[in-house]
Amino acid sequence: AHSSKVGVFVRIRPTANFSKDLIECLPDGQTVNIHHKKDSRRPQDSRKSQLSSFRLEGVLQDVSQGELYARVCQRVVLGALDGYNGTLMCFGQTGAGKTYTMTGSTESYKQRGIIPRALQEVFQEVENRTEHAFSVYLSYLEIYNETLVDLLSSLQGSPHPSPRGMVVSEEPGRGVFIRGLSIHPVHSEEEALNLLFEGEMNRIIESHALNRNSSRSHCIFTVHIESRSRTLSDAKYITSKLNLVDLAGSERLGKTGSEGRMFKEAMYINKSLSFLEQAILALADRRRDHVTFRQTKLTHALKDSLGGNCNTVLVANIYGEAAQIEETLSTLRFASRMMCVRTSPAVNQHMDP
Ligand code: ADP
Repeated sequence: AHSSKVGVFVRIRPTANFSKDLIECLPDGQTVNIHHKKDSRRPQDSRKSQLSSFRLEGVLQDVSQGELYARVCQRVVLGALDGYNGTLMCFGQTGAGKTYTMTGSTESYKQRGIIPRALQEVFQEVENRTEHAFSVYLSYLEIYNETLVDLLSSLQGSPHPSPRGMVVSEEPGRGVFIRGLSIHPVHSEEEALNLLFEGEMNRIIESHALNRNSSRSHCIFTVHIESRSRTLSDAKYITSKLNLVDLAGSERLGKTGSEGRMFKEAMYINKSLSFLEQAILALADRRRDHVTFRQTKLTHALKDSLGGNCNTVLVANIYGEAAQIEETLSTLRFASRMMCVRTSPAVNQHMDP
């Protein structure tokens, strides 16, 4: 099978205090240099600065939501309509712009993010590609403290999303899927947007009801696409999945100051993101046999996106401010490791039984 690199982009959140002395974006549009103090705990080193250079597929500074979609996302969405699985992930510390990138701001239409734009494109293409008959379905999964929550299950008559009865499963020819997760047919962009908002409302209601912070969970919004040729009356059909993933804040939370619920959340996030990093390190090393995806729900659910049949893109969201430089460095290290991961996208073709 042909192999494809994961596309890795860095997006810098705009700020009035952008720290040019620390963060240098080179004119090639692909390199970001971080000039940081060698070790701030050792005063004798404090004047020496060290350079860490990261080369990625693109460094996005001051790009609009529309440009970001066109550069980062469109290829993956069009691929999904051709039958290739696609995954777009946002990674970074809380507040760096993951949700802004993925969902966008409700303040203006121009600021809508990747998910609404992807839905618009999907339905536009469904209309344009008249030689095919498409079916589109949506699902919306939240992973919180290793519990799977169906953000759209209330539509099926149950008042609260129920975490029970869902498991990450795998089947040959189908890949990874979530058994028990509700999936909903949608026939228009408007219907799809309504479901997205419904899921987002459920996420907010759930997090209030259970008194937790929604940036402490991972969310996977999936567009399931099925298509059949209208002209060839054969039994072949094509399926694909487009995963739009908003990961929990990557900041490492210490034990100090966090107790009880907060401590438990921090522990689960540290665990799932550490295993994600480990999986990526092992994949980058091409020791695929050593990668254990089943250790956490997140890595298991993303197994295909990381090493399997998928076109995968990562957006690493960073602050441009000096105060956040340590988290920025750790986000950029994660991003550059991800550059080494390869996937093997292939069209998912099936036959009617
Ligand atoms: P995260 O999901 O990573 O915790 P958010 O997406 O919630 O962060 O972003 C935090 C705040 O910064 C929000 O108010 C958001 O609207 C704003 N923001 C983030 N990125 C951008 C951007 N590229 N342009 C304008 N505002 C942004």
